[in-house]
Formats: sequence, structure tokens, C-alpha cells
Amino acid sequence: MPFTAQHAEHGRLNATHPDLGCGVSWEAIHRARAPLHCPACEGQMVARRSVLGLPHFAHRRRTPDCPLAGESVEHLLWKSDLATAARAAGWDAVLEAAAPHGGWRADVLAVSPGGRRLALEAQLSPITEDDVLERTERYAADEVEVCWFDDRERPRPWMTAVPSLHVTKAAEGRRSVRGVIARYTTEDAWSAVADISLDDAVGWILEGRVAPHEERYVQGAVAPGGDVYRGRFWTAPRYAAAAEDEATRRHAEQHADEVRWEQEESARKARAGAYKQFWARTGIGSAWWQTLETIVQGALGDDTFFGAPTAAYGDGRPLYAKEGARLRVVAVALPARLGVWAETTPIVVDDVPALNRMAELAFCDTKVFVAAPDAGSFECWWVRPGGVY
Ligand SMILES: [Zn+2]
Repeated sequence: MPFTAQHAEHGRLNATHPDLGCGVSWEAIHRARAPLHCPACEGQMVARRSVLGLPHFAHRRRTPDCPLAGESVEHLLWKSDLATAARAAGWDAVLEAAAPHGGWRADVLAVSPGGRRLALEAQLSPITEDDVLERTERYAADEVEVCWFDDRERPRPWMTAVPSLHVTKAAEGRRSVRGVIARYTTEDAWSAVADISLDDAVGWILEGRVAPHEERYVQGAVAPGGDVYRGRFWTAPRYAAAAEDEATRRHAEQHADEVRWEQEESARKARAGAYKQFWARTGIGSAWWQTLETIVQGALGDDTFFGAPTAAYGDGRPLYAKEGARLRVVAVALPARLGVWAETTPIVVDDVPALNRMAELAFCDTKVFVAAPDAGSFECWWVRPGGVY
């Protein structure tokens, strides 16, 4: 039951048009019994009305090989609905349009005033993902875009692989989109826009107000019926851009977290190494150090504390005092080298041999506290190059 037939004088007739697309009335053709031919197999055709009153054409003889024969009323309704939607958007709608080379035949080929072509395909029979992809590519090779439609209860698995729309059945009144045209907000990610008519959806697709979008980072879009559409769905270009920005931002944030973790990890390793070196170099045990710490805190303040050994203070351990929210280095314990800091920052050692070593290292007058754990004493000395005084 095709919608198109070839007329000797008027050319291609389109039964979904009031004037059959060529300025003649249905009645004229219906009554005239003019010779009509199938645009696909060139077999003879007649003009008819279906039980429901739908004007269409039928093959005069059984033609099992013709692609337009044996079409269901359901498919005819689909083509009629799609053609109506395309025309409502101001596009030309050519039914059963075939490529000159025979590579494709569109249920409805929508053609914009500027010549852009978009095939609207009602895919009611089962099809594999490979087949639908191959057919989509054949359209693409001729610069024809395509949108596939289906109205069965559950969305078909292939629908996420190609630009497609899952729509309600014509029997349920005005056809509306089930899945999916979605909008995006960074708060609730993708949500399907509810209650869009087929006419509006086709109009938006033709006008480029929505485009196929493949979601890679967020879970799929949730449709009003609860179906989750993953893979490809339709959205406005600005939503696609916003989602892309958000994905990029999240990716950058995650990368920054990884970098920070690596930096912290390497800082932690460096600190562990510095402690290990400090204990090995000074030969100090933990009990000895704790006593030294207690003596120093008793003399220089309870709220002072030693930090990790650092190259900034000759591999010694800086003693910090809190000054408001900031920390100030008030002394350095057991450095291996002296730096400029030694001109103003006192040194802490644990015995007299260590005090003598500081005198060997000294390049200026430097204050040295001897906090001796064995004697429990705290004394203040000065060293200068070559001497203690
Ligand atoms: Zn035919």
C-alpha cells in the first residue's frame, strides 16, 4: 500500500498531499482510472482508499519482489505522519524517495528550501545494529542525514547506535516522543524533556535546534516513563557544549587530584628519607631525642615543636614557634651544614662534641644551645670560626 505512484502526465503523485503534490485532486485520479505505475517496480497501480479512508495506491497485480508492496497500514500511517511533520517545518517531503543508484529508499525524504536532505525512516521491522549502521552510512555517502523512528513498547537496542527517536503509537492519539530529547544542567545532568509532539521533534531536528549527542561521561538520560537512554540521544547544541565543558572540568579536577596525591606521596617519601638520614647521621635514639625535646621546650617555650629535617636548614630539624597564624623558625637542631640562616637563627645540639663540630662549621658568630639529655641541662654558648666562647 504505497503512497506514491507515477502518472504519465502529472509525474509523481503523493497521496499524503491534498493536491497530490502536483495540483490535481484525488477524486480526479481516483475516478479517471488513469494509467499509474509503481515508482519502484514500474508495475501497474490503482488509486484506492483504505478501510479507514486513507488515500493510497496499490499494485494491480501481486508483486512480491517490489519494495513498496505488502506494506502495513501502520507503516503508511508513519510515512504520512513524518511527511506532515516535515511539511509543517517548511520542508518538502518526498515519499518513498530512492537514490538514483538504488543505494537507499527513504520512507520520507525531507528537503529544505536550501537543498539539505534528511531521511525520516520508520523502522518497524526488526533490524540488526550492523544493518542500521550500514544503511545510515549509505545515506551519509550521499550527504543525506537520517533519523530512525520506532514506536514499539521498548526502545530497540540499535536505537542508541544511530540518530533515532522512540515515539508513542499513532493509536494513542497525537504521537509524542518517548526517548529522547534531553536537556542538561550540571545539577541533575541529563533529563528527558516530557511531552514533545512528533511534529515539534521533527521540526527541531530539521531546523538543527537539536542534534544527536553521544554521552560518554554521565549516565544516560532518564525519560518520563522511567526508561534510561544511553548512548545517543537528541539535545540542543548549547546543552551538548555545557555537558562537554562539565566533562572537561571534571576530568581536569580528577587529574589535579591525581597530581596532588602524587605530590603529597612524593613529599611524604622525601620526609621519610630525610628522617632516616637525620637519625643515621646524628646517631640519636628516640628516648634521647624525646628528652632533648623536653629540655628545649622547657627553655624556649611549651608551644614550640620540631619539624622534619630539611635541606633549607642544613638537614637539621627546625624548631617552630607559633606567631599568630604563622610559624617562625626559632632554632635548628643538629644541622650537618650551616647557611646564611645561622647568622640569626640559634642552633641546638645535644652534647659538647656536637658544640665543637658547630665551631668547626661556623663562619660567623652563632648562638648554640646545648640541651644535654644525660645531664638534663640547657646552656647557651656562642661559636665563631674556630672557637667556642
Ligand atoms: Zn511496485
